[in-house]
Amino acid sequence: MMGKNLPFTKEQLEKIIEEFGTPFHLYVEEEIRENARRLKQAFSWAPRFKEHFAVKATPNPHLLKILKEEGFGADCSSLAELILAERAGMEKEDIVLTSNDTPPEEFQKAIELGAIINLDDLSHIEYLERHAGFPELISFRYNPGNLREGGNDIIGKPEDAKYGLTREQIFQAFEIMKNKGADRFGIHTMVISNELDPNYFIGTAHMMFDLALEIYQKLGIKVEYINLGGGIGIPYRSEENAVDLSYVGEGIRRAYEEKIVPNGLDPLTLAMESGRMIMGPYGFLVAKVRHKKDIYKKYVGLDACMADLMRPGIYGAYHHITVMGKENWPLDHIYDVAGSLCENNDKFAVDRALPEIEIGDIIVIHDTGAHGHAMGFNYNGKLRSAELLLKPDGKVELIRRRETLEDYFATLDFSNLS
Ligand SMILES: *Cc1c(COP(=O)(O)O)cnc(C)c1O
Repeated sequence: MMGKNLPFTKEQLEKIIEEFGTPFHLYVEEEIRENARRLKQAFSWAPRFKEHFAVKATPNPHLLKILKEEGFGADCSSLAELILAERAGMEKEDIVLTSNDTPPEEFQKAIELGAIINLDDLSHIEYLERHAGFPELISFRYNPGNLREGGNDIIGKPEDAKYGLTREQIFQAFEIMKNKGADRFGIHTMVISNELDPNYFIGTAHMMFDLALEIYQKLGIKVEYINLGGGIGIPYRSEENAVDLSYVGEGIRRAYEEKIVPNGLDPLTLAMESGRMIMGPYGFLVAKVRHKKDIYKKYVGLDACMADLMRPGIYGAYHHITVMGKENWPLDHIYDVAGSLCENNDKFAVDRALPEIEIGDIIVIHDTGAHGHAMGFNYNGKLRSAELLLKPDGKVELIRRRETLEDYFATLDFSNLS
């Protein structure tokens, strides 16, 4: 099996480990920027294009700042994420609140920021009006129901998903908002997750352009913002290929020329809110082998655990693993690569063919840049790792320190125990 390339050497890693210890997530700035530019290039034909990075994927303000410099905004679904976007210097309609089961303070913060608000239900219109008032640009999340065969493990089928408004409700929502005097509108959908087939994204654009056209024909409302959501997959496996962004951009351009332009809806803002594709491949979890054991199966135990990366444990997700310095060794050993949680699914890989591993080996787990550190929890009293940024000049910056026991105990008061 082919390996996966790394944007750093073993010597570089050893130096970083000497300074910061293990484990840590390492993000590669230059690659993040190059990828961001590829996405923008793919949509350079669009009169207005905006990627709102899904903050939940990698909620670190230092990384958000890099994305802001590349012209990206933020997609937020909590108060903390709105504040992170604000602190990273993002403003107004570069920020979109796409939440569900939303508490008042999130709506209030979004209004304060001048963000786009993307409502998840008809009943939220009144709720928003009562608690925060309306934004300048109001958008609604469309759940198309049973459009797509299958679905996948992460998001399931749209009709089983809790998100969004039905088709009929979308028209009702626009009618209600029009009667309330709203004059700037958007539509949003997010029906795909971790999808590698570029045609699904083009298909989503067709669906949303058709919806925009129908809204115009039925209600006379010109939608000015169409958000196609996120969900662009990444090649976690070395034999998979990245989604060809220029193919997606070109397919959506043709849909735009066919449906938006001739019907007088041009120009409008085309938006996306990808997370995984923006950051996933450019982050790596670096750990060391602490123990080995040989019972019914062979195990290697790392100094990282599920607190640092949950995807393998909760989804059975594949993450490629490189044993540093052994890239060209034969993969003639079968290991479970485990963490230290008292939870048997705390494994980064099961039955993985790897080179022979020794205690002290440096292990790199690939594609942890999105939904990696962010999903970590403190179950079992395990502490989350640091986050480091590899700068274009080779320097490394600590962008989040590792957690300490003091952090873990911070919500407890030990003084009143006696
Ligand atoms: C999670 C999420 C995203 C990002 O999904 P990716 O798979 O990381 O691209 C975008 N929009 C919404 C509403 C989400 O919940």
